[in-house]
Parts: sequence; C-alpha cells; structure tokens
Amino acid sequence: MSVIAALIAEVFLLGGPFAWWLARSAWAGRHPQTAIRVWHATAAGVLVSLATVLILVAHDVWEHAMVWLFHADKPLIHAAYGGTWMARGIGEAALLLLLGGASAMAVVAIRRFLSQRRARDRFRLAVDTSGSETDDPRVRVMDHENPAAFCIPGGRGRDRIVITTAARTLLSAEQMAATLEHERAHLHLRHHRTILAAEVVTTGFGPFGLLRPYADQVRRLAELAADDRASHAHGRLTVAAALLEMGSANPVPSGLDGMPALTGPDVGGRIRRLIAAPARRTSAPAGLLAPAALLVALIAPPAVALAPAVLLMDTAHAQQALGADHAPATGSRAR
Ligand SMILES: [Zn+2]
Repeated sequence: MSVIAALIAEVFLLGGPFAWWLARSAWAGRHPQTAIRVWHATAAGVLVSLATVLILVAHDVWEHAMVWLFHADKPLIHAAYGGTWMARGIGEAALLLLLGGASAMAVVAIRRFLSQRRARDRFRLAVDTSGSETDDPRVRVMDHENPAAFCIPGGRGRDRIVITTAARTLLSAEQMAATLEHERAHLHLRHHRTILAAEVVTTGFGPFGLLRPYADQVRRLAELAADDRASHAHGRLTVAAALLEMGSANPVPSGLDGMPALTGPDVGGRIRRLIAAPARRTSAPAGLLAPAALLVALIAPPAVALAPAVLLMDTAHAQQALGADHAPATGSRAR
C-alpha cells in the first residue's frame, strides 16, 4: 500500500508544487526550449506514475507477476502491495476511473488534432490559391488589412509561413526577416505538436489541480524559443522592434487559434526580455537537465513499484525451506 501512496504523492508533488515552481522560475525564461522539455518530462512523470498506480490497483495481476518474476512468497508480496483494506471493489472502481480518464483524454487529443488539421488544410489551400509567392517556397503573402504573421504546419513540403500585405507595409526589411525567422523556428521545433500535447494534458488534469500552468507555459516558452532563434540571426532589438510594430495585431485569423504566430501571449513581457538580456544559448548543465528530468520521470515510478518485490526476492524459496524443516528431508529443490 505504501507503494501506491508513494506514487500518488509523486503525482501530486510533480503536478502541484513542482509545476508551480517551474512556471515561476526565471531559469525557464533563459532556456525556453529546454524548459519546454522539462515541462513534458514533468507531465510524463505524472502520467507514468498514474499508469503505474493503475497497474498496481489491478493488484491480482501485479502480485502474480511479482511472485513469478522474483520467486517471492505470495502472502508476503500480498502484504507489501495489497494490504488488508483495499477491497476488490475499490480496486476495480479505481481501475475503471483511470481507464475512463485515459480514454477521454485520447478522444480529446484525437478530436483536437483532427479539427486543427482540417483548419490548417483549409487555410493552406486558401493561401496557396490566393496568396502570392515569394523567394522562399514556404512563404506566402496574403492580401489583408490586418498586419499578421503566422505559420501553418503540415510537414515536409506542406509547411507554410503566411504574412499579410499590411505586415509587409508595417515592417522594415530587417524586421520582416526576423519575423520570418521566428516563424521558421516554430516550424522547425514543431511547436504546434508540443502545444497540442500540453493542451490535451492540461484539459485532462487541470480541473484536478494538476499541471495547471502546463499549456500556458508551453505556449509562452515556444514564443521565447522562437524569439531567441530570430535574435541569433537578426539581433534582439530587431525582433523586439518587429514585435512592437505587430504587437497590437491579431496573431492569427479566427479558426487557426493555437497556431504559432509572431505575436501571441505576453508580447510586452517578451519585448522587455529581448531588450533587457542577451539571448543565451543553452549551457551544458541546462542542456543536460531535460534528459535527466525525463529519465527520472520515466524510471522513478516503475522503480518505486518494483522496490518491495526486489526486497522480497527469493523469499518463496526461504518459506519452502522453512516448511521443509518440519517434513522428512525429501530434498525440496532449491535454486
Ligand atoms: Zn511566435
């Protein structure tokens, strides 16, 4: 039982205080792309811990597996994992709840993915037919009075960057180049996928107080990461000036909500950040943080779940030997 309690504690610690800390850490703003990966690792930790709880709650299956795998004594294994209070009914209800939750999240993810893809396909067709081409085959100019720059992800050969004629008038050549670089960064880093994953998980867990800032933070960090890429090529002040010019514009046409654009969340904060501090490349320790966090998030839950069984390894043999002391020595086969 303590194993399930430990895993549930991990779920609430990662999804609550840790997510709260990550959302407020200045470090994330300095290393946005790494911070996005740490957010995904945190969410993976919550999901894997919950999945492990699910497997443990279906304890009949788990206990048989542990007895077989570690050659452990069944009553001792049962005491370690099952305890006495966990009636079968509770286990099955929890299992149903978790399976229902997982299925609901899968349905939300698939529906959102398909509806976004339909919207992107519609817009791609519109800009391919009515937009004018540029030197870059991915970039299209759309005749529109609203200054906007955004991308339509679609994979190889289907990625588009759209700028409106109003944005072209508004921005200098250098600002336009920085804007295009910002959009290329969104496409290259596949930010639309990362945002979709965060939105689906936040929809599922947010109402329970878990991972609440996840989607908002990933959206914000995706913008910072794209700003940094554009800054490396065209200078921070150019990106800040482009943002200032475009700041009041609608980021994307309605129907494409959630697609990465130049503007978006917290334009003021982004401009201040670009003016205040040089964009730093991810340092080696910060770069290692993401894989380390992911590793811990994925390994910790199964490690916690397996610990009692490992500690009871070969106890079945010990119990048999104990029984054999009271019986004639017929040579109970020991390994
Ligand atoms: Zn952007």
